[in-house]
Amino acid sequence: MPSALDLPSASQASPPAASRPAAHGWAGVGEQLAGRLARLDIHRAEDLVLHLPLRYEDETRLTPIAVARPGFPAQVEGEVVSCEVTLRPRRQLVARVRDASATLVARWLNFYPSQQKLLAVGSRVRLFGEVRGGFFGDEMVHPRVRRVEADEGLPEALTPVYPTTAGLGQGTLRKLIDRALASSPLDDLLPPAVCAALHLPSFADALRALHHPAPDADPVALEQREHPAWRRMKFEELLVQQLSLRRAYNARRARGAVSLQPRDELTAALLAQLPFRLTGAQARAATEIAVDLAAVHPMQRLLQGDVGSGKTIVAALAMLQAAENGYQAALMAPTEILAEQHWKKLAGWLTPLGLHVAWLSGSRRKREREAELERLRSGEVLLAVGTHALIEDPVTLPRLALAVVDEQHRFGVRQRLALREKGAAGAGGAGEGGPGLRPHMLMMSATPIPRTLAMTHYADLDVSILDELPPGRTPIRTRLVSDARRDEVVARLRTACREGRQAYWVCPLIEESEALQLQTALDTFETLTAALPDLRIGLLHGRLKADEKSATMAAFAAHELDVLVATTVIEVGVDVPNASLMVIEHAERFGLAQLHQLRGRVGRGSAESVCILLYAQPLSQTGRERLKVIYENTDGFEIARADLRIRGPGEFVGARQSGLPLLRYASLEDDVDLIEPARALAGQMLRDMPQAADRLMARWLGGREALLRA
Ligand code: ADP
Ligand code: MG
Repeated sequence: MPSALDLPSASQASPPAASRPAAHGWAGVGEQLAGRLARLDIHRAEDLVLHLPLRYEDETRLTPIAVARPGFPAQVEGEVVSCEVTLRPRRQLVARVRDASATLVARWLNFYPSQQKLLAVGSRVRLFGEVRGGFFGDEMVHPRVRRVEADEGLPEALTPVYPTTAGLGQGTLRKLIDRALASSPLDDLLPPAVCAALHLPSFADALRALHHPAPDADPVALEQREHPAWRRMKFEELLVQQLSLRRAYNARRARGAVSLQPRDELTAALLAQLPFRLTGAQARAATEIAVDLAAVHPMQRLLQGDVGSGKTIVAALAMLQAAENGYQAALMAPTEILAEQHWKKLAGWLTPLGLHVAWLSGSRRKREREAELERLRSGEVLLAVGTHALIEDPVTLPRLALAVVDEQHRFGVRQRLALREKGAAGAGGAGEGGPGLRPHMLMMSATPIPRTLAMTHYADLDVSILDELPPGRTPIRTRLVSDARRDEVVARLRTACREGRQAYWVCPLIEESEALQLQTALDTFETLTAALPDLRIGLLHGRLKADEKSATMAAFAAHELDVLVATTVIEVGVDVPNASLMVIEHAERFGLAQLHQLRGRVGRGSAESVCILLYAQPLSQTGRERLKVIYENTDGFEIARADLRIRGPGEFVGARQSGLPLLRYASLEDDVDLIEPARALAGQMLRDMPQAADRLMARWLGGREALLRA
């Protein structure tokens, strides 16, 4: 079996030639046509069948020209009374069509000689389009036109309009789809009982209803995709998504992994030396992970916990379990600042136990880096922390048995996989553990996601949740302050710092221009330095060299700075407990998840913390809505739910990054009620009717079921 990395991603894949049915339904599709269809991701007759209409046009009725209402699509029929190419006001084809009620002008700015022929004076035509008042009186611009016989009948069904691409007309597409429909076995692969319970029509009926809606079909339900036929297709799609996720999970479960037995000596020593006791949630998650690590199959677990819930120590315990067994563990973090902070924390906890923690970052001097690399390569050093530098080429971890990815949503699928592959790069699998062994994977995320999304995005992971914050935290108070009252905020900053506390001042996000964002940060830094000469103010932004960043961060952590002016580089993970004031400028420009993350940088110590959201008037509707949500909620899950509502799920967890097959028809927002039944049925089908599951996946995905998930 090839490694998952070799498989094409869902969007690029074209199914292997062998899986293309020689079928009827596809016969006669020449090279050129096939190329155009491929642009629509249509490679087989089955794909044609599942290429569903975008919308419908009603050609079942004729509207007398005199009563066609402006702005509404209508079909009229009449005789061509004139047709000419005019040059004014511009070159165009202008035809006049007359029926018993009135005359209408039709014009085309781009046209072919064939159209001109079709519109020969005296011929009968049907025009479909929108009427509007124009230069020549009532007119249709670019209507669809068709020559008809004197008393030709009208179609009985609504006319489907398909998504298409240049060079592929609706007519051709329709013919191809009809032929595919007629020649494909549209057999039902779902248990009838499930369909009955959900009031879903059969596969064949649903397809017919969508491609050729009955004349009495409810056009609104079709348009809104709420028609039972649509629900059937969406359900199949969600089901197939669940099936792929489960399959991927099972396939990975079937691999071998080093069994890392819990050994108590070092773990007990670490726990004894911590300045705090684990929360119940941390202890529970740590146990779940310890059990997984002892198994001979790779763990694939997500540790989800709100900002500040204490995920790092849980990761440290897992890494220690690997080291106690003589195996390597690596932790990868998305930013330099965060990686360094993790490294310091882990080194602080683990060095006293006699374990060296290697620090791999782009910022380290080459010689030091080389030395660390060598010690990792030889297996002398067991623990490593780094940024994506960790997955860059020369790093070899021959005995890697556990890969931890922090803030996992920040990484692309490929990067997460690459870390896992580090171990396999050596003599096959985790060193002497045996060939083909996979490291255990622990992913961490502070982006809580609502349950429905979790079911689709994380259906192939086991999840541990830290639903309890460490004790002694005082809740953060959030203030919304108009930009006009900035001076008061500066005064408040002075007071807080004079009382020995520290503050962050986050500069506005300027998405269009990094340079502008940098400039704003510099300006803010200068203004604050001038206004608060007695405070020690530092500046942190993305353009600084890594060692400058790290020096500034270290100075802030050591309380050599009172205020840290920063761009969003501090968004994730930064942990300085003495900081208790967070000011976010132009808060209305930030997303909810970002605001929640930023606010989570304070409230980490025992002092009462305040987060001030400075906003500029006038606020947009979404801006206002977002600020209201962040003001009213502190719970990450609540905020995530609101975020989902405001933004929609598309961009929510970086869907395109997640490696999930994208949904074409179902929507995680509108079809929430179908997700749970799809999930339940997926489990049942894999257990009891694996062949139907196979066929269903083949039908929907063709060769594209490769799932790139770490
Ligand atoms: P997360 O990564 O989940 O946002 P961290 O692991 O950075 O959170 O932990 C946040 C802070 O809480 C750190 O300073 C950490 O040392 C501290 N901490 C972690 N667990 C506990 C606990 N059980 N009791 C008290 N403090 C804790
Ligand atoms: Mg963290």
